[in-house]
Amino acid sequence: MNISERIKQFLEKLPKNIKLVAVTKSRPIEDILNAYNSGYKIFGENKVQELSNKYEKLPKDIEWHMIGHLQTNKVKFIAGFVHLIHSVDSLKLLKTINTEAIKNNRIINVLLQIHIAQEETKFGQTFDKIKEILSSDEYKELKNIKIVGLMGMATFTDDINIIRSEFQYLASCFKELKDSSPLIGNKEFKELSMGMSNDYNIAIQQGTTIVRVGSLIFGSPG
Ligand SMILES: *Cc1c(COP(=O)(O)O)cnc(C)c1O
Repeated sequence: MNISERIKQFLEKLPKNIKLVAVTKSRPIEDILNAYNSGYKIFGENKVQELSNKYEKLPKDIEWHMIGHLQTNKVKFIAGFVHLIHSVDSLKLLKTINTEAIKNNRIINVLLQIHIAQEETKFGQTFDKIKEILSSDEYKELKNIKIVGLMGMATFTDDINIIRSEFQYLASCFKELKDSSPLIGNKEFKELSMGMSNDYNIAIQQGTTIVRVGSLIFGSPG
């Protein structure tokens, strides 16, 4: 099966209200063009340099998602075109994105990344800290960012009970914030980004709205 057939097959199984971000990291331009030519235009990358390179080389109507850890000094390279940043985990980063959004005369949509996995290495913030950020006066002054939801990555394990409980926890954080919209300050807080190739089915059961899937579509990274 080629890439466009795999995307088509994946989309047929995916409930219609869930969005697929096809993760193109470490894939060559031609693979992405294959997917693009089949009509799919929503792609995700986890590194700034790769994302901006691919943005330059590929058609401009692609909807690009930044899904990996983002350093403040690199925000400027993607601020002009990125559709959604999934991985925001500090007030400092929110402020930088806001500043770069102003320079580009746009509003940048972001998700806050919550640390839900057992591993120390994964990025993200605790839910308490996220609520603290949202309650701060500094956050309320940021007019060129819009927080539209939450993101999280489960522990890398075969134990589906662990993955399920981590996604359940993230979904409960999401619900709590959604029900307290004054804290977020906008009504468009509606996206939950969880689920990858190995755990997207569990994420769907727990109420995700966005899945980020790479290897299942493009094959194992070479
Ligand atoms: C690579 C990556 C994915 C996709 O992983 P697959 O297992 O290839 O589906 C999803 N989210 C993030 C943040 C990633 O870095």
